Amino acid sequence: MILQLYNTLTRDKQLFAPIDPKNVRMYVCGPTVYDYAHVGNARPVVVFDVLYRLLRHIYGESHMTYARNITDIDDKIMARAAETGGEIASITDKYAQAYRDDMGALNALPPTIEPHATGHVPEMIDMVARLIERGHAYAADGHVLFNVPSLASYGKLSNRNRDEMIAGARVEVASYKKDPADFVLWKPSAEDQPGWDSPWGRGRPGWHLECSCMIEKNLGETIDIHGGGIDLVFPHHENEIAQSVGVHGAPLANYWVHNGYLTVNGEKMSKSLGNFFTVHELLEEFPGKGEAIRLTLLSAHYRQPLDFTKDGIRAAVSQLNRWYRLLDGIEAGAVPDSILNALGDDLNTPRAIAELNKLASERDLPGLRAACDFMGLVQLELDVWEGRKQSFSDSLTFTDSVTFVLSNSYVDELVSKRAEAKKSKDFATADKIRADLLGEGIILEDSPQGTTWRRG
Ligand SMILES: [Zn+2]
Repeated sequence: MILQLYNTLTRDKQLFAPIDPKNVRMYVCGPTVYDYAHVGNARPVVVFDVLYRLLRHIYGESHMTYARNITDIDDKIMARAAETGGEIASITDKYAQAYRDDMGALNALPPTIEPHATGHVPEMIDMVARLIERGHAYAADGHVLFNVPSLASYGKLSNRNRDEMIAGARVEVASYKKDPADFVLWKPSAEDQPGWDSPWGRGRPGWHLECSCMIEKNLGETIDIHGGGIDLVFPHHENEIAQSVGVHGAPLANYWVHNGYLTVNGEKMSKSLGNFFTVHELLEEFPGKGEAIRLTLLSAHYRQPLDFTKDGIRAAVSQLNRWYRLLDGIEAGAVPDSILNALGDDLNTPRAIAELNKLASERDLPGLRAACDFMGLVQLELDVWEGRKQSFSDSLTFTDSVTFVLSNSYVDELVSKRAEAKKSKDFATADKIRADLLGEGIILEDSPQGTTWRRG
């Protein structure tokens, strides 16, 4: 099989070729651990888990290193500690473990390595010193700053001009900066703040620095894939590149892969809008149904925006119920090519999900079992899955929907109801109809010509 990935750096879909097929290296920016991860944080975890599974399949598990870091020193963590009176280490330990547990509940495999920022402070101090030595950084007023104009290629990943970069980074225009775009590598710590001794005084690292150091130490100078959410392209990834290229004179990563934004009910997720969901809360509301959250997160192509709704989770549960019943007692065969080809085409998970439905309708159950295992879906015994508490069972029909078929005319009727709802901007109703139909195995496809449907 072939693997093609869209590379943010070159802005095109490229054939993936690793530097060393016996040592394929991927780094994905991980969480800052001061609170539970929200569902937007879970999207890259699930997306890059699919990529990790695919790379392991192609190159072999022992030839693959997947690193996902833990940011355990950060101003947000310090603020949380001050607010709650807690110890920094107990806050970071608690939320790092919650992150592992919650992402594990979404069937995301643990990364091969999980470097912690606080475990790499000497390396960070060393990298800052090398950047100064090479003329890319300077010390001023207790800080060390990266001098952006010193690196001609700065801005290539995000494709921004200087003014956009300065505005986008919302950088402080401080008097000690040589250039307004310069960013912090090291900053001073007050007496009551955590800090480490350095040649520039007691202080702590800037956020961007840790990833460059953890990659250099654990994976090497140039890696194959660097991933994360699209919101990290600028300034975080641009600054990681600046630091690493500044010390090595070599690219940091050959393929830059970014997942799109996540909205909830069509709006940006925010605490003030009341549409802010942590994975932890969702797992309480949908106990034992992490796979349904996973399926929902994979329902859109990873580069597209994803609108996350609880109805989407309900539809995914209904879909999974169907597969679970079909697969009870079935042994896995080989992973079907149709699945590998869909995923190999820039991780086209919506196409792969449509292929799962096709395998189900063709009753290729050993193939469906293997495909579901491969995608991290349907990994329990049927009775374990069904036995898990279903606090939301009122909204679902638990009849044997495998043999239950909606009539064509009834589906047509619902599709035109949905079109009317969309016309009158009643997107909640439109989404609900789509989700309900998906729950019955009916897939809607919208195009400029209108909506068509098919049975999955
Ligand atoms: Zn990073």
